[in-house]
Amino acid sequence: MFFDYLIVGAGFAGATIAERIATQLNKRVLLIEKRNHIAGNAYDYYNEDGILIQKYGPHIFHTNIKKVWDYLSRFTDWNKYVHRVLAHVNGKEVYLPVNLDTMERLYGRKFTPKQLERHFEQKRVKIDKIKNSKDVVVSQIGEELYDLFFKNYTKKQWGVYPEDLDVQVTKRLPLRFNRDTRYFADKYQGIPKYGYTRMFEKMLSNKNIHILLNTDYKDLINSVKFNRMIYTGPIDYFFDYVHGKLPYRSLDFKFKTLNKEIFQDAAVVNFPNEHKYTRITEFKHFYFQKHHKTTICYEYPKGEGDPYYPIPKSDYQEIYQKYRKEADKLKNIYFIGRLAEYKYLNMDQVVNEALKLFERIRND
Ligand code: FAD
Ligand code: UDP
Repeated sequence: MFFDYLIVGAGFAGATIAERIATQLNKRVLLIEKRNHIAGNAYDYYNEDGILIQKYGPHIFHTNIKKVWDYLSRFTDWNKYVHRVLAHVNGKEVYLPVNLDTMERLYGRKFTPKQLERHFEQKRVKIDKIKNSKDVVVSQIGEELYDLFFKNYTKKQWGVYPEDLDVQVTKRLPLRFNRDTRYFADKYQGIPKYGYTRMFEKMLSNKNIHILLNTDYKDLINSVKFNRMIYTGPIDYFFDYVHGKLPYRSLDFKFKTLNKEIFQDAAVVNFPNEHKYTRITEFKHFYFQKHHKTTICYEYPKGEGDPYYPIPKSDYQEIYQKYRKEADKLKNIYFIGRLAEYKYLNMDQVVNEALKLFERIRND
């Protein structure tokens, strides 16, 4: 059988490109996905108790890129969910990122924004050149809060301490001198009203798109004819690990359904210093679902297993660059997405890159 485009992976990267090519270029696309579902890591579904849950952990859509928001809004309405995260520290639950409210709950006293600025001015460690994820934090909030919130959580999550990770990891969290308790400050945020999977179904419902689930592209690549390929899987796998394996961080998700309406006060509660899991997610908060039961999920980080997080560390960038060089030599094969670019990308960044890649493909 002949297809104009073969796309590997039905996550945000693959689905966006597939949709654009099918509708804008009117070309035939074969979308191959090794899992038994579309939507990549954003996949959500109703479990046996009828509760809408996310199979691969908490996914909250947030962006400042209007083009991306407008694009996805063609396929879904959004609910008004605003993400808030509590961290369980010193026997208290306090909001992250660190803000006025966090500090007042933690220290049991009032702060004005000015007092808080002065407090951190005294606590922060002066560092000339910020080199790693520890520097990022201690240069803003000092050693004490670094130890409380970041040191052990990061070790659990990544297997290494923040000093061994590039700055981008902890830079994801700001420090706030006001009472903004939201996790993200982006202009556009929410969750697809009927779930991510429904949104993906809409994106992919086009007669030009043929979806093949439960299939690793390598099992089929020699029996399909196509002009161009878009690859969104792990880049080292594509090249049969010729330059060595790239490390990815993985997770075990343990789900539990409880006979109560609500389990915790926020969708996500982090546990920096206790337990083997990093956080507990309660999905009903995301979808505003009414149900007499609730499902929660514990996340246990691990080194082996499904690749979820590329590890932001310069040693691994060196390996990645070797693969990148090989990739750049290939005509008519494009690499995009979190795994193919080995980049700690959020969903909106992946969609943004996919829209840009589509323009490139259109002009090639
Ligand atoms: P993926 O979603 O991973 O899709 C790639 C697809 O390719 C997968 O479905 C995979 O099965 C398939 N594939 C791989 N190899 C093959 C093969 N050989 N043959 C066939 N198919 C293959 N981002 C946010 O913006 N907000 C959040 O709140 C957020 N929370 C997250 C929480 C967790 C626990 C994780 C792990 C990620 C989170 N992300 C979040 C990031 C988000 O998941 C990614 O940005 C997004 O999934 C990237 O899309 P993608 O298409 O590049 O990759
Ligand atoms: N982090 C931390 N303690 C927390 C929350 C986050 O140390 O309570 C660090 C940790 O290294 C984490 C990074 O900040 O990986 C980025 O956090 P984010 O919530 O963005 O991670 P993700 O949602 O991608 O897992």
